[in-house]
Amino acid sequence: MPQSHLKALADAGLFAAGGHREVYEILAGACGASFFVWVQHHAPVRLLAASANASTRDRWLPRLLSGDALGGVAFAHLRRPGSRPVQARRIAGGYVLEGEAPWVTSWGLADVFAVAARCDERVVFVTVPADAPGLRPSPPLRLAAMQATATVRLGFDGFTARDADVIVDLPFAQWQEDDRAATAKPNPAAFGVAATCTRLLAELDPAAATALEAERLDCRRRSYGGEEGQVALRAWSLELAVRAALALVAATGGRAMERSHPAQRLLREAAFYAIQAQTRPLRAATLDRLTR
Ligand SMILES: Cc1cc2nc3c(=O)[nH]c(=O)nc-3n(C[C@H](O)[C@H](O)[C@H](O)COP(=O)(O)OP(=O)(O)OC[C@H]3O[C@@H](n4cnc5c(N)ncnc54)[C@H](O)[C@@H]3O)c2cc1C
Repeated sequence: MPQSHLKALADAGLFAAGGHREVYEILAGACGASFFVWVQHHAPVRLLAASANASTRDRWLPRLLSGDALGGVAFAHLRRPGSRPVQARRIAGGYVLEGEAPWVTSWGLADVFAVAARCDERVVFVTVPADAPGLRPSPPLRLAAMQATATVRLGFDGFTARDADVIVDLPFAQWQEDDRAATAKPNPAAFGVAATCTRLLAELDPAAATALEAERLDCRRRSYGGEEGQVALRAWSLELAVRAALALVAATGGRAMERSHPAQRLLREAAFYAIQAQTRPLRAATLDRLTR
């Protein structure tokens, strides 16, 4: 990821501006990797902004908001039933982290990560500076999409977080409930990818583009309008993004397979959103949508 992409986002004030759906859509429709690195940054921003621990909040939040520092996050492992890939062991004045986070984006780009670890029936999120001792990153994972996100597996070999580094400490059941609600919400990235596809498709096949754009707007209106069945709507938007990208490939022809062509990149990025932030209900809804 060229630093110039991140600088452009920071200069536009976007390191401090999460949560605007249209911004999410525009960025995801432009460059998936820049978008995803930017989205991950907002996880520590949100967690730190809500943190009651002034020590770590005041150390990191102003730098993250100003664009002076980039943040990342590692928490998806909490969704794996039964497994505890990152554990926090209580010691005097803090925690020792052990295990491996399977997915950590922005390695080599970010200055600090919010890392989630299980401590019995609780979850602690701690700030982990990228240059801290006791971290064991894998080489960048070789990915079918989003290669420029610099995603690694991150091992913890006795990394110690002090109490001053704890962002939040909450019951695992409460985290699960919050995560279920968050992942049932619409994913604006899917609408952004589909919008770029229908825009490019309009130059090649206006009728196909009009039909897909009408479906996109319908799905988007229902999703953002808070209609019942949010998980099914999210699954629809994920499947629609893949279908819109595939339509663009089909309309483009063989050139779509050249690595320099946006159609194949958009298709790979759409496939990424079909698994990103996947939960058990979302997985079931996605498969239901794809097999009916
Ligand atoms: C390129 C890339 C970058 C990423 N970057 C980050 C990052 O920076 N930080 C971060 O925290 N995460 C990151 N992720 C993680 C991403 O959000 C996860 O892919 C997502 O949470 C799915 O997790 P998983 O693939 O590890 O699957 P799992 O956790 O194994 O499964 C996902 C869900 O599906 C359910 N499930 C799995 N198998 C079954 C089954 N057979 N039957 C029923 N239910 C099942 C599980 O219960 C779980 O809830 C990244 C992923 C990718 C691919």
